[in-house]
Amino acid sequence: MIENKFPTKDISEDDIKTKFPLVAKKNDDHKSIFNIAGVEIGGSKLPIFAGPNMVESKQLISETAESIKKSGASFLRGGAFKPLTFPYRSKKYNETREEGIKWLGEVKKEFNIPIITEVMEEKYIDLVSSVADILQIGTRNMQNFPFLIECAKTKKPILLKRHFGCSLRDWLAAAEYIMYYGNEQVILCERGVSVPHTHRSTSRFLLDLQVIPAAKEITHLPIISDPSHATFWSPWVESMTLASIAAGADGIMLEVHPDPKNSAVDPLQPINFEEFENLTKKMDLVSRSINKRIF
Ligand code: PEP
Ligand code: MN
Repeated sequence: MIENKFPTKDISEDDIKTKFPLVAKKNDDHKSIFNIAGVEIGGSKLPIFAGPNMVESKQLISETAESIKKSGASFLRGGAFKPLTFPYRSKKYNETREEGIKWLGEVKKEFNIPIITEVMEEKYIDLVSSVADILQIGTRNMQNFPFLIECAKTKKPILLKRHFGCSLRDWLAAAEYIMYYGNEQVILCERGVSVPHTHRSTSRFLLDLQVIPAAKEITHLPIISDPSHATFWSPWVESMTLASIAAGADGIMLEVHPDPKNSAVDPLQPINFEEFENLTKKMDLVSRSINKRIF
């Protein structure tokens, strides 16, 4: 017999009661299902969040919105405000910021597709919230507690990406912050963790598939997977997407770009429209084998 119901070493049963009263499941069947802009998240129909890394131009997000919606995506993703690793900018490698948010708003109306986009600074929370159906908090802000509190206060649904160096405990603690400050609609997103280079069989990050069932032992919140950021390499996106669904993910975030090699950032990572369309069909097949579905 396993004595501790939650053998995850850094989260004890006592922790569950005292540190995660809001995030933790109240019973084994407790599972939150959110309805966001008419899309169910946490249920048996898995939503897809797709789009370019960066909102590069109106044209880019318009054609992407049209194509991904036709292929079955529920949300258009894309950053107008981007956490770029290096401070150097060029015409191509630059954020579109306020203008990008305006384009997202236009495309949302034109194609009737909900928007998920990242907010990085407190001073832009209102602007981003005016367009976003879901506020994305990126890996780099996951433990910026004053920022989490301000985002929570908007009452907008929040997608909380896992910091690439954080344990499940720290990640759930960040979700607990958001809930404690009055916002119940938190979606978790696994996007790959850093591993020492000596242990790196693959790329910069390692998709932590195991965290999906581990999180589900503890929390009622939906958890989605982002194989694009995790693999950093489009040829692996398909297998890691299907594996994420098999592992129990409640949705998938994918970088999709009409011309991946010309993506302004991370050009090795996005898949193109045709690859996306083909992948959604395989996602549906895998989903159906576990009584879920895409279509
Ligand atoms: C993104 O989704 O565009 C992004 C920057 O992700 P992350 O915060 O996971 O790096
Ligand atoms: Mn990105």
